[in-house]
Amino acid sequence: MHPRTDLPAGTLVVGVLGAGQLARMMAEAASALGIQFKVFAQSSSESAALVVADTVVGELTDLAAVLKFAQSVDVITLDHELVPPATLTHLATSGIKVYPTSSAIEFAADKSAMRTKLQQLNAPMPNWITATDFVAASEFADKVGYPLIAKSPRGGYDGRGVWVVNDADELAQLSYPVLLEEKVKFQRELSALVVRSPHNQAVAYPIVETVQQNGICTQVLAPAPDLNDERASQAQQLALLIASELDVIGVLAVELFDTGSGALLVNELAMRPHNSGHWTQDGAVTSQFENHLRAVLDLPLGSPAMTAPKVVMGNILGGEHHDLHRGLLHCLARDPELKVHLYGKAVKPNRKVGHINLVGTDLIDLQHRIAHATDFLAGKIEE
Ligand code: ADP
Repeated sequence: MHPRTDLPAGTLVVGVLGAGQLARMMAEAASALGIQFKVFAQSSSESAALVVADTVVGELTDLAAVLKFAQSVDVITLDHELVPPATLTHLATSGIKVYPTSSAIEFAADKSAMRTKLQQLNAPMPNWITATDFVAASEFADKVGYPLIAKSPRGGYDGRGVWVVNDADELAQLSYPVLLEEKVKFQRELSALVVRSPHNQAVAYPIVETVQQNGICTQVLAPAPDLNDERASQAQQLALLIASELDVIGVLAVELFDTGSGALLVNELAMRPHNSGHWTQDGAVTSQFENHLRAVLDLPLGSPAMTAPKVVMGNILGGEHHDLHRGLLHCLARDPELKVHLYGKAVKPNRKVGHINLVGTDLIDLQHRIAHATDFLAGKIEE
């Protein structure tokens, strides 16, 4: 089936639709496992396209081009949820193995579909409604009170597509249908990351805290500080249940609100390696990228155990300095323990252009050192 005859016998071939940083980091894991890795990119300057030799450039709406690409691999996976549903359906009906499947991915691509499905599973969630018009929205507002959170069901990321609604005037200005949620008074945000294979094998990583600023994750703390074992294990069980009920193959990240008491509430789902799991590259026996590949190929999964007591991941967000490498000289010299992962993306304000991991024993110390490096690279501090 593979047009390439120059690969050693039995070589497994994975193709990814999308060529962002997640595909780029999957490529590192694929290389180590001897997996042939291909990406379908929209442009040759995308993050993964810059490093993956087997790159095809095309449009995800070009069904013939995507099918030709898919016919040259053993399994297709995705690095984002915005692949057009028609493309995924076309692949599935043409007999291509796609993980996660188009029916599972819908629950990550459409927040209203996700809320409806999780309701059936009795998963703890904020009060919510998919309001088709202002009348329905007003009734919901009367019930839960302002402020509300409004979300466009599809297409949002990093806080784009999420708005706070303070009063009826603002509610009237929304475009409908819209997903409305009560504004949860949470103390912090957590993430439960699990990986599941077609054999129904599953592993759960430790629950982490995702520290957010202005809707963007700045740091991830592993394991989540001061989360007792019982709540941590409940969150892992919930994520495993969702993975199994939604038939997710590969990584599933469940973003959670910690209100301090009671259940952890599900915010949203991602079905691909996730920013809250980047710490696993340097702080777990098996990284999320490797386990994602193992899962979609139905290989045995690797241990999710931590290799150090504490791990901190800090996102490098674009700032004023366009030349990251100059800043890196300073950071690398100042702290030789930093593990830097850059995505080869042009710097733009607040764009995630890389991340840094640090492992150790003293959480506060690790957080300070990560904050220093990421602030320096973003040009927020000068030394
Ligand atoms: P995105 O798809 O952009 O990541 P999310 O649904 O995760 O969107 O929302 C982005 C952020 O908005 C969350 O991380 C959280 O800080 C805030 N948020 C979302 N939903 C609620 C809610 N119901 N109550 C309070 N804050 C919320």
